[in-house]
Amino acid sequence: MTEDVIRLLPDSVANQIAAGEVIQRPASVIKELVENAVDAGATVIDIILRDAGRTLIQVVDNGSGMSDTDARMAFERHATSKITEAADLFTLHTMGFRGEALASIAAVAQVDLRTMKRDATVGTRIVISGSKVESQEPEACVPGTNMMVKNLFFNIPARRKFLKKDTVELSQVLREFERLALVNPDVELSITHNDTLLHKLMKAPLKRRIADLFGKSLESQLIPVATDTSIVRLSGFIGLPAHARKRSALQYLFVNGRNMRHPVFHKAITNCYEGIIAPDMQPNYFVSFDVDPDTIDVNIHPTKNEIKFENESAIYQILVAAVKESMGRFNASAGIDFDLADAPEIPVFNPDAGATHGVELATGYNPFAMPAPSAPPTPSVRPYTPQRISSGINVQNWEALYADFTSRRDEAVGSVPTEAEALRPDTQPALIESTLDLTSTDTGAEPATPGYIQLDNRYILSTARSGLMVVDQHRAHIRILFDRFMATGSAEGLHCQSVMFAEAIELTPVQSATLKAIEPTLRTMGFDPTYLGGTSWSLNGVPAVLPDGRAAETLRDILDDAASDTGIDGAETLRRATALAIARSSAIAGGTRLSSAEMERIMTDLLMLPEPDYTPDGLPVIVILPVADVTRPFRMFDR
Ligand code: ADP
Ligand code: MG
Repeated sequence: MTEDVIRLLPDSVANQIAAGEVIQRPASVIKELVENAVDAGATVIDIILRDAGRTLIQVVDNGSGMSDTDARMAFERHATSKITEAADLFTLHTMGFRGEALASIAAVAQVDLRTMKRDATVGTRIVISGSKVESQEPEACVPGTNMMVKNLFFNIPARRKFLKKDTVELSQVLREFERLALVNPDVELSITHNDTLLHKLMKAPLKRRIADLFGKSLESQLIPVATDTSIVRLSGFIGLPAHARKRSALQYLFVNGRNMRHPVFHKAITNCYEGIIAPDMQPNYFVSFDVDPDTIDVNIHPTKNEIKFENESAIYQILVAAVKESMGRFNASAGIDFDLADAPEIPVFNPDAGATHGVELATGYNPFAMPAPSAPPTPSVRPYTPQRISSGINVQNWEALYADFTSRRDEAVGSVPTEAEALRPDTQPALIESTLDLTSTDTGAEPATPGYIQLDNRYILSTARSGLMVVDQHRAHIRILFDRFMATGSAEGLHCQSVMFAEAIELTPVQSATLKAIEPTLRTMGFDPTYLGGTSWSLNGVPAVLPDGRAAETLRDILDDAASDTGIDGAETLRRATALAIARSSAIAGGTRLSSAEMERIMTDLLMLPEPDYTPDGLPVIVILPVADVTRPFRMFDR
């Protein structure tokens, strides 16, 4: 005889399971609570946190408030005041609609809610722990809702353990806060963590809010996008190409007042920057889409971030056109930012300058040769190379970076061969001899030394014993600089160069807190930060090797790294991360034309290193294409 085994789960268990989807960390609680407050018509919302939200998340709003029955009902699953029938799903005007959030939160935390309707005389207080209502009583309240969520995941140790360090959780919270603040610029918002006020944002137009959140400098870095068609109204801002970022670019898409992820529209925008900014840079953007609610489906993802558009391809076209138009308009009216006036001189191939050996000639730079008096000065040509605009690499600095290499290399020549030996070009460049050759040549032209060929302004090609050696110039330079920084840094610290006019750097609250924590280590790397109060700092000194204007950006990279999931614990790891960040921003960019001498210098220095094949963070630097692969197209015709 069989026994039936299927049973309905008790609500508390079902809620806990459902909570797994909606509530992953303190940031998700904040999202849900703030969205509820916005839906309730609040104009002022205050967020208070303890221990990155681990022990307390409190959201206080001046919205509609709830009756005592509603306050009780709100914690039931699928309890919502926002939709009543399936059809309402297609005309959503609120952030919430599933009636899942409060039930989920109450299942995994201790909730203490005080709420009062605007016209009521007495409010209600309800205490719930792990889905169980412990008490509900009338209480004198101010109109609105005051929701405290304590000890998140107190009843699910596994989930609690899964939470990251406070710095990481707090940075997630702040990311969420930023998104919420951007979609609700007309709501006054504050966030306080462990008694420190991190943000206090007044009601403001979007551009002001962006600046309030991310720093005043943003205001001058954004250009408006706007277009109005029958299927979509676009508005917002895109970043000037010159202010594209290598990391943590500010990229936000909104639809009908809701934050969204949309990889296709992201592509649409970033494609417009192609060829204008370096390939490893990302533009900032803040773009809102207003569409008829019944042409989108917000229901496809439980955290409601991914959104399906009925008219996706048409909107794609409109978006691209709008972004290009804005860029064009800006370029025409205020072309100064696109001006190449202060772009560095780039060595270019000049066929008339006597490159008799078929090797391109360095016009501005030849580290080996004294300028030959008999050689007519080559006119310096500044080709339009858009990547230069944002790369900020100054060839002069770049040369300086190399200045110290010569001696080190000369010492190293003739030292014990390393495993790099196997990768060396089979025609070993005779360095010392070639230097002599160069200085004695009276044409100033390159002799026919083993030539390196540059491909696509990105790769250096050479022959190796087993095939064709392809070297990524940017990564190669990162590897070289990194090794050098680590070598120098371990001895006496990276040389710090004082800044003539220290400028204030606005950091995010997390970056500022991180900087406080790692300041001593940063000093050994050549940074000299001074705390100005709030989240402002100044850099009175920067590593001498850093190209002009890259210090603040590099510092932010380091701080973001230090606060990111991987975390940086030991001082040594931090030093590595710092060295890598500095190497990244100082390294010669992909897309930069190199002279033969420059290529030779890079290759020589690279192949001298103990581990030339990969960047410090594990990206390939050298690739060898076997002879058989290179010659395959020929052999297809073999008889
Ligand atoms: P949803 O937002 O999807 O409706 P929730 O579980 O987040 O579901 O909230 C349930 C209900 O509780 C809401 O529909 C709303 O009626 C009420 N509610 C929640 N938070 C607030 C608030 N801050 N002010 C007023 N009412 C609220
Ligand atoms: Mg909700």
